Amino acid sequence: MHEKCGVVGISLADRAAARPLYYSLYALQHRGQESAGIVTHDGFQQYDHVETGLVGDVFAAEDLDDLRGSVGAGHVRYPTSGGVDACCAQPFSVSFKSGSLGLAHNGNLVNAADIRADLEERGHAFTTRGDTEVIAHDLAHNLLESDLVRAVKRTMSRIHGSYSLTITHDDTVMGLRDPQGNRPLCIGDLGDGYVLASESAAVDTLDGELIREVRPGELVVLEEDGSGFDSYQLASPPQSANCFFEYVYFARPDSVIDEELVYDVRRELGHRLWKENPVETDVVMPVPDSGRAFATGYAEAANEGRENAENSAEEGEPNVEFAEGLMKNRYVGRTFIMPSQDERERAVRLKLNPIKSTVVGRSVTLIDDSIVRGTTSTQLVELLQDAGAEEVHVRIGAPPIVAPCYMGIDMASREELIASDRTTEEVRDVLEADSLAYLSIDAIAETLDRERADLCLGCVTGKYPYDIDGEESDREVERPLVGDSAVEAAGNADD
Ligand code: AMP
Repeated sequence: MHEKCGVVGISLADRAAARPLYYSLYALQHRGQESAGIVTHDGFQQYDHVETGLVGDVFAAEDLDDLRGSVGAGHVRYPTSGGVDACCAQPFSVSFKSGSLGLAHNGNLVNAADIRADLEERGHAFTTRGDTEVIAHDLAHNLLESDLVRAVKRTMSRIHGSYSLTITHDDTVMGLRDPQGNRPLCIGDLGDGYVLASESAAVDTLDGELIREVRPGELVVLEEDGSGFDSYQLASPPQSANCFFEYVYFARPDSVIDEELVYDVRRELGHRLWKENPVETDVVMPVPDSGRAFATGYAEAANEGRENAENSAEEGEPNVEFAEGLMKNRYVGRTFIMPSQDERERAVRLKLNPIKSTVVGRSVTLIDDSIVRGTTSTQLVELLQDAGAEEVHVRIGAPPIVAPCYMGIDMASREELIASDRTTEEVRDVLEADSLAYLSIDAIAETLDRERADLCLGCVTGKYPYDIDGEESDREVERPLVGDSAVEAAGNADD
């Protein structure tokens, strides 16, 4: 299951958590449109409301009133390519001997099947196909034998893959990030409590103050009365594996991840894109909305470049124009919601319409963040040519996507990825563009001020930071053993 989702957890002094959770889910709606859910606890009982649909459709005012208590967790789920799937809507809740659990998961485990088989041997019965239930059962099992922090540590030593989790255990809310920190998770101060959220935009929505990112391998436990939080560093691997695609496409531009405003990162990537791949052009045009910050940066750097270049800043020489020449129909959902290729193609036409006067007879440089299947770019090049563009150049703010994502982004299989078996020139040929260029991996690492080794680059290198069946790893990673001996080893490691 490849789930790219948004998670939130809140603990407040004496206000109901349901509405702040609901607003946070609205702020994270871009991370998942398939289902939404909230679980709360009032000190006696757990309440939940989880349904397929957008946040605004899933919760009525009465549903929020029924979600009692000042602590809770919430989730929005990304549509998988298979379409709507009610089985895996979250938070996943379960009641067991030592209490109730609610789990909201962003990411994807690569060894869920091993753990599931092990737990089934021990008598656990599963109701869904999802990996979140596997984490829930494993944690429930460990909580029978040890305190909260040790139980989480044991679970962490067994699960392998990408996870940012918000979890309720009765009226305790916690946040957990996998040891390589693949997916984001941050902590915010609400004045009368604390929030854990996938992105800081959710903290802003609640008028809170962003404190910091949850560290890779860190467990953050919020006080039940909203007065503070405790931190436990449960694992400290030598390298991290932050997903660069969060910065390129997935996160909101107004979110801050690891102290970097995503908008600024994209604009800087736009500068780099021009420096690596300049083009003589009349107009720089973003694919709305994903290409906007990149195109702004590209046009800025192009104009700066002209000013600096010899003989170029002559009197009267026109600057490169930045123009919004493609208008978006905001009522059409993301193209990926459409399951078939044919529907996806139609969706692009529905979604974007060119402003003819900005393109007729001109050289247009179209900027987007990424090319996945190639549907969007192919359609848009044709659209601009039909609208009268003289030349259409394409510049992309990410490297070619050559391999699937196993860490939670629905990126299609190798066969569907246009760049998986084509050179850039061959992709340009399919697009029928006058030129095509991508951003280099180094430019991304340098802009993020990270070592390549601290990023997850699986989709652009085909080498992954986890031990995945049938794929190569880019580092020393070992899938934990699960079974009796492994449980014993984890127990010894507790002390
Ligand atoms: P494609 O048309 O398949 O080449 O997809 C590229 C377009 O989809 C770009 O405009 C991206 O902004 C956007 N995109 C990239 N990755 C994803 C994703 N995982 N889910 C939805 N849209 C995406």
